[in-house]
Amino acid sequence: MSRIAYVNKAYVPHGQAAVHIEDRGYQFADGVYEVVTVFKGALIDEEPHLDRLDRSLNELEMAWPVARSALKVILRQVVRQNHLINGVVYFQVTRGVASRQFEYPKDIKSSLVVTAKHMRELVHGPDKNGISVVTLPDLRWQRCDIKTTGLLASCMTKQRAKESGFNDAWMIDRDGFITEGTSNNAWIVTHDDELITRDISNALLNGITRRRILKIAESQGLNIIERAFTPQEAKKAREAFISSASSFVKPVTKIDDCVLGNGQIGSLSEALSNGFLDFLENS
Ligand code: PLP
Repeated sequence: MSRIAYVNKAYVPHGQAAVHIEDRGYQFADGVYEVVTVFKGALIDEEPHLDRLDRSLNELEMAWPVARSALKVILRQVVRQNHLINGVVYFQVTRGVASRQFEYPKDIKSSLVVTAKHMRELVHGPDKNGISVVTLPDLRWQRCDIKTTGLLASCMTKQRAKESGFNDAWMIDRDGFITEGTSNNAWIVTHDDELITRDISNALLNGITRRRILKIAESQGLNIIERAFTPQEAKKAREAFISSASSFVKPVTKIDDCVLGNGQIGSLSEALSNGFLDFLENS
Protein backbone atom coordinates (compact mmCIF):
# COMPACT_ATOMS: atom_id res chain seq x y z
CA MET A 1 0.00 0.00 0.00
CA SER A 2 1.52 3.36 -0.98
CA ARG A 3 1.94 5.94 1.75
CA ILE A 4 0.51 9.42 1.31
CA ALA A 5 1.89 12.57 2.93
CA TYR A 6 0.42 16.06 3.18
CA VAL A 7 2.79 18.93 2.30
CA ASN A 8 1.51 22.51 2.10
CA LYS A 9 -1.92 22.02 0.54
CA ALA A 10 -1.13 18.81 -1.40
CA TYR A 11 -1.57 15.10 -0.69
CA VAL A 12 1.38 13.41 -2.42
CA PRO A 13 3.07 9.99 -2.50
CA HIS A 14 5.35 9.76 0.54
CA GLY A 15 8.49 9.29 -1.59
CA GLN A 16 7.84 12.49 -3.52
CA ALA A 17 6.97 14.70 -0.54
CA ALA A 18 9.50 17.55 -0.22
CA VAL A 19 10.06 21.04 1.13
CA HIS A 20 12.38 23.78 -0.10
CA ILE A 21 16.09 23.66 0.87
CA GLU A 22 15.74 27.07 2.53
CA ASP A 23 12.86 26.02 4.71
CA ARG A 24 13.96 27.17 8.18
CA GLY A 25 13.03 23.78 9.54
CA TYR A 26 15.83 22.31 7.44
CA GLN A 27 18.38 25.02 8.19
CA PHE A 28 17.70 25.86 11.86
CA ALA A 29 15.32 23.17 13.16
CA ASP A 30 12.99 26.19 13.38
CA GLY A 31 9.88 24.09 13.75
CA VAL A 32 7.59 22.25 16.13
CA TYR A 33 5.76 18.96 15.90
CA GLU A 34 3.24 16.61 17.45
CA VAL A 35 2.74 12.85 17.33
CA VAL A 36 -0.82 11.61 17.89
CA THR A 37 -1.59 7.94 18.37
CA VAL A 38 -4.31 6.39 16.24
CA PHE A 39 -5.92 3.47 18.05
CA LYS A 40 -8.67 1.53 16.31
CA GLY A 41 -9.06 4.50 13.97
CA ALA A 42 -9.49 7.12 16.73
CA LEU A 43 -7.09 10.03 17.24
CA ILE A 44 -6.12 9.75 20.90
CA ASP A 45 -6.14 12.95 22.98
CA GLU A 46 -6.24 15.05 19.81
CA GLU A 47 -7.38 18.27 21.52
CA PRO A 48 -4.59 18.33 24.14
CA HIS A 49 -2.06 17.68 21.37
CA LEU A 50 -3.45 20.62 19.37
CA ASP A 51 -3.36 22.77 22.53
CA ARG A 52 0.29 21.88 23.02
CA LEU A 53 1.04 22.67 19.36
CA ASP A 54 -0.58 26.07 19.93
CA ARG A 55 1.63 26.63 22.97
CA SER A 56 4.81 25.60 21.11
CA LEU A 57 3.91 27.93 18.19
CA ASN A 58 3.23 30.81 20.59
CA GLU A 59 6.51 30.33 22.42
CA LEU A 60 8.33 30.63 19.08
CA GLU A 61 6.09 33.42 17.72
CA MET A 62 5.22 31.22 14.76
CA ALA A 63 1.90 31.38 12.94
CA TRP A 64 -0.50 28.46 12.53
CA PRO A 65 -0.08 27.19 8.93
CA VAL A 66 -3.83 26.57 8.64
CA ALA A 67 -6.75 27.07 11.02
CA ARG A 68 -7.05 24.54 13.83
CA SER A 69 -10.29 23.20 12.35
CA ALA A 70 -8.59 22.78 8.93
CA LEU A 71 -5.70 20.90 10.54
CA LYS A 72 -8.18 18.47 12.09
CA VAL A 73 -9.63 17.80 8.63
CA ILE A 74 -6.13 17.27 7.17
CA LEU A 75 -5.17 14.85 9.95
CA ARG A 76 -8.29 12.80 9.22
CA GLN A 77 -7.60 12.85 5.48
CA VAL A 78 -4.05 11.57 6.03
CA VAL A 79 -5.35 8.83 8.34
CA ARG A 80 -8.01 7.90 5.79
CA GLN A 81 -5.78 8.01 2.72
CA ASN A 82 -3.21 5.80 4.48
CA HIS A 83 -5.90 3.37 5.72
CA LEU A 84 -4.45 3.86 9.18
CA ILE A 85 -6.16 1.91 11.96
CA ASN A 86 -3.32 1.56 14.49
CA GLY A 87 -0.26 3.77 14.38
CA VAL A 88 0.70 7.41 14.65
CA VAL A 89 0.04 10.57 12.73
CA TYR A 90 2.99 13.00 12.75
CA PHE A 91 2.57 16.69 11.98
CA GLN A 92 5.22 19.34 11.79
CA VAL A 93 5.05 23.09 11.39
CA THR A 94 8.17 25.01 10.34
CA ARG A 95 8.50 28.76 10.07
CA GLY A 96 8.71 28.59 6.29
CA VAL A 97 11.07 29.47 3.45
CA ALA A 98 13.38 32.51 3.59
CA SER A 99 16.97 33.35 2.70
CA ARG A 100 19.18 32.31 5.61
CA GLN A 101 19.24 34.79 8.49
CA PHE A 102 19.03 34.17 12.23
CA GLU A 103 16.23 36.57 13.20
CA TYR A 104 12.69 35.56 12.32
CA PRO A 105 11.83 36.77 8.79
CA LYS A 106 8.65 38.80 8.48
CA ASP A 107 5.66 37.87 6.34
CA ILE A 108 6.55 34.31 5.46
CA LYS A 109 4.07 31.47 5.48
CA SER A 110 4.68 28.57 7.84
CA SER A 111 4.91 25.08 6.31
CA LEU A 112 2.84 22.08 7.31
CA VAL A 113 3.82 18.45 6.78
CA VAL A 114 1.65 15.51 7.93
CA THR A 115 2.59 11.84 7.66
CA ALA A 116 1.14 8.59 8.98
CA LYS A 117 2.82 5.41 10.16
CA HIS A 118 1.29 1.99 10.72
CA MET A 119 2.33 0.36 14.00
CA ARG A 120 0.99 -3.15 14.34
CA GLU A 121 2.43 -3.38 17.83
CA LEU A 122 -0.18 -0.84 18.99
CA VAL A 123 -3.09 -3.16 18.16
CA HIS A 124 -3.16 -4.65 21.66
CA GLY A 125 -2.58 -1.35 23.47
CA PRO A 126 0.11 -1.04 26.17
CA ASP A 127 2.99 -3.53 25.89
CA LYS A 128 3.86 -4.96 29.31
CA ASN A 129 7.40 -6.13 28.47
CA GLY A 130 10.08 -4.18 30.29
CA ILE A 131 12.86 -2.06 28.79
CA SER A 132 16.29 -1.06 30.08
CA VAL A 133 17.49 2.53 30.48
CA VAL A 134 20.96 3.92 31.04
CA THR A 135 21.45 7.22 32.84
CA LEU A 136 23.35 9.79 30.77
CA PRO A 137 23.89 13.57 30.99
CA ASP A 138 21.10 15.74 29.59
CA LEU A 139 22.83 17.57 26.71
CA ARG A 140 19.77 19.57 25.61
CA TRP A 141 18.98 23.30 25.73
CA GLN A 142 16.98 25.25 28.34
CA ARG A 143 13.58 25.15 26.61
CA CYS A 144 12.76 21.44 26.63
CA ASP A 145 9.14 22.42 27.34
CA ILE A 146 8.78 23.37 23.64
CA LYS A 147 8.25 20.39 21.34
CA THR A 148 10.70 21.47 18.66
CA THR A 149 12.21 19.47 15.82
CA GLY A 150 15.67 20.33 17.25
CA LEU A 151 16.28 16.80 18.54
CA LEU A 152 19.97 16.21 17.85
CA ALA A 153 21.01 16.02 21.52
CA SER A 154 18.27 13.41 22.08
CA CYS A 155 19.45 11.47 18.99
CA MET A 156 23.05 11.48 20.29
CA THR A 157 21.89 10.27 23.69
CA LYS A 158 19.66 7.54 22.30
CA GLN A 159 22.50 6.39 20.03
CA ARG A 160 24.82 6.13 23.04
CA ALA A 161 22.18 4.17 24.95
CA LYS A 162 21.71 1.72 22.07
CA GLU A 163 25.46 1.30 21.59
CA SER A 164 25.76 0.49 25.30
CA GLY A 165 23.13 -2.25 24.95
CA PHE A 166 20.18 -0.35 26.50
CA ASN A 167 16.78 0.44 25.00
CA ASP A 168 16.82 4.12 25.99
CA ALA A 169 18.39 6.69 28.29
CA TRP A 170 17.11 8.67 31.25
CA MET A 171 18.81 12.04 31.08
CA ILE A 172 20.33 13.74 34.12
CA ASP A 173 20.44 17.50 34.66
CA ARG A 174 23.36 19.43 36.15
CA ASP A 175 21.94 19.08 39.65
CA GLY A 176 21.92 15.29 39.38
CA PHE A 177 18.16 14.81 38.83
CA ILE A 178 16.51 12.84 36.02
CA THR A 179 14.70 15.08 33.56
CA GLU A 180 13.05 12.50 31.25
CA GLY A 181 13.72 9.85 28.59
CA THR A 182 14.96 10.81 25.13
CA SER A 183 11.37 10.78 23.82
CA ASN A 184 9.24 9.98 26.87
CA ASN A 185 8.53 10.98 30.45
CA ALA A 186 10.06 9.05 33.37
CA TRP A 187 8.15 7.62 36.34
CA ILE A 188 8.98 5.62 39.47
CA VAL A 189 6.92 3.91 42.18
CA THR A 190 8.46 3.84 45.66
CA HIS A 191 8.21 1.03 48.20
CA ASP A 192 5.67 3.27 50.00
CA ASP A 193 3.34 3.13 46.97
CA GLU A 194 4.06 6.70 45.87
CA LEU A 195 3.82 7.41 42.15
CA ILE A 196 6.49 9.95 41.27
CA THR A 197 7.14 11.89 38.07
CA ARG A 198 9.09 15.11 37.65
CA ASP A 199 7.17 18.37 38.06
CA ILE A 200 6.72 20.51 34.96
CA SER A 201 9.28 23.19 34.09
CA ASN A 202 11.40 24.23 31.11
CA ALA A 203 13.60 21.16 31.77
CA LEU A 204 11.17 18.65 30.28
CA LEU A 205 8.22 18.18 27.96
CA ASN A 206 4.77 18.13 29.51
CA GLY A 207 3.72 14.85 27.90
CA ILE A 208 0.11 14.44 26.88
CA THR A 209 0.35 10.79 27.97
CA ARG A 210 1.88 11.97 31.26
CA ARG A 211 -1.17 14.17 31.87
CA ARG A 212 -3.54 11.34 30.95
CA ILE A 213 -1.76 8.91 33.30
CA LEU A 214 -1.99 11.47 36.12
CA LYS A 215 -5.77 11.57 35.59
CA ILE A 216 -6.02 7.77 35.53
CA ALA A 217 -3.83 7.54 38.66
CA GLU A 218 -6.06 10.08 40.40
CA SER A 219 -9.16 8.08 39.50
CA GLN A 220 -7.46 4.98 40.96
CA GLY A 221 -6.82 6.88 44.20
CA LEU A 222 -3.03 6.64 43.94
CA ASN A 223 -0.65 8.77 45.96
CA ILE A 224 0.85 11.03 43.24
CA ILE A 225 3.88 13.23 43.82
CA GLU A 226 5.24 15.50 41.08
CA ARG A 227 8.88 16.12 41.94
CA ALA A 228 12.38 15.51 40.62
CA PHE A 229 14.16 12.28 41.57
CA THR A 230 17.75 11.07 41.24
CA PRO A 231 19.12 7.96 39.50
CA GLN A 232 20.02 6.58 42.97
CA GLU A 233 16.39 6.87 44.07
CA ALA A 234 15.16 5.38 40.79
CA LYS A 235 17.40 2.34 41.21
CA LYS A 236 15.92 1.73 44.67
CA ALA A 237 12.34 2.12 43.39
CA ARG A 238 9.89 -0.77 43.42
CA GLU A 239 8.73 -0.05 39.86
CA ALA A 240 9.51 2.31 37.03
CA PHE A 241 8.03 3.09 33.64
CA ILE A 242 8.07 5.55 30.75
CA SER A 243 5.16 7.24 29.00
CA SER A 244 4.66 8.67 25.54
CA ALA A 245 1.97 8.78 22.86
CA SER A 246 3.17 5.55 21.24
CA SER A 247 4.54 3.69 24.28
CA PHE A 248 1.62 4.44 26.66
CA VAL A 249 2.73 3.00 30.05
CA LYS A 250 5.91 0.99 29.35
CA PRO A 251 7.70 -0.74 32.23
CA VAL A 252 11.37 -0.06 32.91
CA THR A 253 12.85 -3.15 34.54
CA LYS A 254 16.55 -2.23 34.43
CA ILE A 255 18.28 1.08 35.20
CA ASP A 256 22.04 1.03 34.52
CA ASP A 257 23.12 -2.28 36.12
CA CYS A 258 20.19 -2.51 38.60
CA VAL A 259 17.26 -4.82 37.94
CA LEU A 260 14.00 -3.54 39.43
CA GLY A 261 11.67 -5.86 41.30
CA ASN A 262 11.68 -9.25 39.63
CA GLY A 263 12.37 -7.82 36.18
CA GLN A 264 8.65 -7.87 35.26
CA ILE A 265 5.98 -5.17 35.18
CA GLY A 266 5.03 -4.11 38.74
CA SER A 267 1.48 -4.24 40.10
CA LEU A 268 0.89 -0.48 40.21
CA SER A 269 2.30 -0.01 36.68
CA GLU A 270 0.08 -2.84 35.50
CA ALA A 271 -3.01 -1.21 37.00
CA LEU A 272 -2.12 2.05 35.21
CA SER A 273 -1.42 0.18 31.98
CA ASN A 274 -4.85 -1.49 32.21
CA GLY A 275 -6.45 1.88 33.00
CA PHE A 276 -4.78 3.31 29.92
CA LEU A 277 -6.11 0.50 27.75
CA ASP A 278 -9.65 1.24 29.05
CA PHE A 279 -9.14 4.88 28.11
CA LEU A 280 -7.93 3.91 24.61
CA GLU A 281 -10.84 1.53 24.09
CA ASN A 282 -13.31 4.25 25.05
CA SER A 283 -11.73 7.06 22.98
N1 PLP B 1 9.43 13.86 26.55
C1 PLP B 1 10.02 13.99 25.35
C2 PLP B 1 11.39 14.59 25.27
C3 PLP B 1 9.35 13.59 24.17
O1 PLP B 1 9.94 13.73 22.98
C4 PLP B 1 8.06 13.03 24.30
C5 PLP B 1 7.34 12.59 23.11
O2 PLP B 1 7.79 12.68 22.00
C6 PLP B 1 7.50 12.88 25.57
C7 PLP B 1 8.21 13.33 26.68
C8 PLP B 1 6.12 12.29 25.75
O3 PLP B 1 5.15 13.17 25.28
P1 PLP B 1 3.74 12.62 24.78
O4 PLP B 1 3.18 11.83 25.93
O5 PLP B 1 2.96 13.84 24.52
O6 PLP B 1 3.99 11.76 23.60
